[in-house]
Amino acid sequence: NLSQEHLSVRTTCPYCGVGCGVRATPQGAQQATIAGDTAHPSNAGRLCVKGSALGETLGLEGRLLHPHVRENGALRQVSWDAALDQVAAQWRAIVAEHGPDAVAFYVSGQLLTEDYYVANKLMKGYVGSANIDTNSRLCMSSAVAGHKRAFGEDIVPVSYDDLELADMIVLVGSNLAWCHPILFQRISKAKEARPDLKIVVIDPRRTATCELADLHLPIKPGTDVWLFNGLLTYLHGIGAVAPDFIAAHTNGYEAALAAAQLTPEQVAQACRLNVADVLAFYEAFAATAKVITGFSMGVNQSTAGTDKVNAIINCHLIGGRIGKPGAGPFSITGQPNAMGGREVGGLANMLAAHLDLDNAAHRAAVRAFWQSPTIAEKPGLKAVDLFQAIEAGKVKAVWIVATNPAVSLPDAEQVRRALGKCELVVVSDVVRDTDTNALAHVLLPALAWGEKDGTVTNSERRISRQRAFLPAPGEARADWQILAQFARRLGYAGFDYAGVHEIFDEHARLSAWCNTPDELPRLFDIGDLAGLDRAAYDALAPVRWPAGRDVFADGRFSHPDGRARFVATPPRLPANKVDGEFPLILNTGRLRDQWHTMTRTGRAPRLAEHTPEPFVDLHPQDALLCGVREGELARIGSSWGSMVARVRHGGGIARGSVFIPIHWNGQTSSDARVGALVNPVVDPVSGEPEFKHTPVMVDRF
Ligand code: SF4
Repeated sequence: NLSQEHLSVRTTCPYCGVGCGVRATPQGAQQATIAGDTAHPSNAGRLCVKGSALGETLGLEGRLLHPHVRENGALRQVSWDAALDQVAAQWRAIVAEHGPDAVAFYVSGQLLTEDYYVANKLMKGYVGSANIDTNSRLCMSSAVAGHKRAFGEDIVPVSYDDLELADMIVLVGSNLAWCHPILFQRISKAKEARPDLKIVVIDPRRTATCELADLHLPIKPGTDVWLFNGLLTYLHGIGAVAPDFIAAHTNGYEAALAAAQLTPEQVAQACRLNVADVLAFYEAFAATAKVITGFSMGVNQSTAGTDKVNAIINCHLIGGRIGKPGAGPFSITGQPNAMGGREVGGLANMLAAHLDLDNAAHRAAVRAFWQSPTIAEKPGLKAVDLFQAIEAGKVKAVWIVATNPAVSLPDAEQVRRALGKCELVVVSDVVRDTDTNALAHVLLPALAWGEKDGTVTNSERRISRQRAFLPAPGEARADWQILAQFARRLGYAGFDYAGVHEIFDEHARLSAWCNTPDELPRLFDIGDLAGLDRAAYDALAPVRWPAGRDVFADGRFSHPDGRARFVATPPRLPANKVDGEFPLILNTGRLRDQWHTMTRTGRAPRLAEHTPEPFVDLHPQDALLCGVREGELARIGSSWGSMVARVRHGGGIARGSVFIPIHWNGQTSSDARVGALVNPVVDPVSGEPEFKHTPVMVDRF
């Protein structure tokens, strides 16, 4: 009703990269009712089951409300001054003795853009090390690397409206129905209105997304590059190319083609598919001008993740299916602000404003804008390497912000060992008890969703406000405030922000400053959003960049010569193969009703009902061979660790594979962390771990 509408606050869902607009109406001190925001262009009022249950995840139970330090093994509540003084003193001493690369941050795609900006400015511009990585490394760093190789800039050249304009949508390694439900609903509606809209799903599992598919290709895990190289060869072979576009706007076509040579028969054999299905896909792609290829974790989380991304992009470049309405490669981002993090250089190998850490002119421009005492000169350690460096004693202090690596990283037991050995582990988080917090020396309480203020950028480059609608509980502070107070303690100027709007302003001005006439203009330039005062920032409506133009519509890309690159992608198998001891391939992923390590969604009983406990889904014949039956508990083991889960069938799993969800942690149930099993092998370009392919065994518990 009208009065409720008047009281409600417009904000953005904190879960996936769809970035749906939410209206939250406070009900008392720590509660609120939740509805979709009909005025938000990305979701037009729709929310999925997780988003609509947000109100059930509020409240202070289990919250970290005061700073604590660990003394003789026990946590003791202290003042903010005492906690930050202790961290600053230890941090300063470690840097003085061992240099800036002996300290590190490990942050999160849950952070707001302003938090991300301050953390990166502090590390890269003031501490002087790029040892700041993020859990987005586990999510979309292969897409970032693929975009940079192909386009010269990390750009997603598709918007959600394009899904309704496409005549064919290919979904690769994406269970969109569960992981990005509002996009799936948009596609379902489009298909309802236009049954000719062709949907192809490429996924080893027959997931809920396949319900919409005209064609499902149950590809052998890890063989996507074969499939898309074969498509490139096929398109070339039948002349389904755009020679003028290739000549005027790309480089590297011949080399990519030479590396791709595969017949449909060879593809079918490598990918364990029917030749007829491979050909049906290729023929449909060739016959359709408006094709979107959406890809997600099944592509990114691989030791060949970056090559998979480029193999897909190659197939769009060959026919000029990019920069046009309803066509293009579409990286579907996992986290709510993985894109905003990318805009501020949130990865250890990136610099703010889509600039490059390994480019001296870019470093100089950012340093001049920040007027900072230094600038990191080389890429920092990526997530998996970072925790290995901690265990090796090379990194002696780590500050973990809003993430739970002792559950979520591959070889999670190694992360525990690393944190157990580290001289200083600081964690700022909203939750009191997590597997990671149990190893912290200092715990700092942060504001949660509904309490904090800032911006996020979703998968279609739309910047939206997350707004506070609840009071700050206990002594919790915004992440940017904690970091700025810490920076000032270290004696750094440049962190005197009167409010979050001033950080956003600086971020926007930096993006314009770097587009000087001497530089190639980058598409990421939000200078028109600079100068917002508090009121204008508060009122900021969702806005997509670049303003007023479609990405790559003019055929101009962000490489210095303005051309896109075909990238040669010779196929490679996953790092570790199955053998007699570990005969099955572990695939991990999300469930429909849970998010990450369940620290928020685990609070809503309604969400837990969907899947109350960890499970391992395997084919009935494999179960027979392993001696386990549906409903029984099984132990799943790999070379890195083991866990216990209940046996299930029916998840559309093919023979030879098992699927285990990522969500359960050591707090919800012992022996339930799938991260303990996952092989810590990474893509050599992106550093993204291979979550989709770990050899495992299954046995009776
Ligand atoms: Fe939130 Fe994603 Fe669901 Fe939208 S689709 S409500 S952003 S979880």
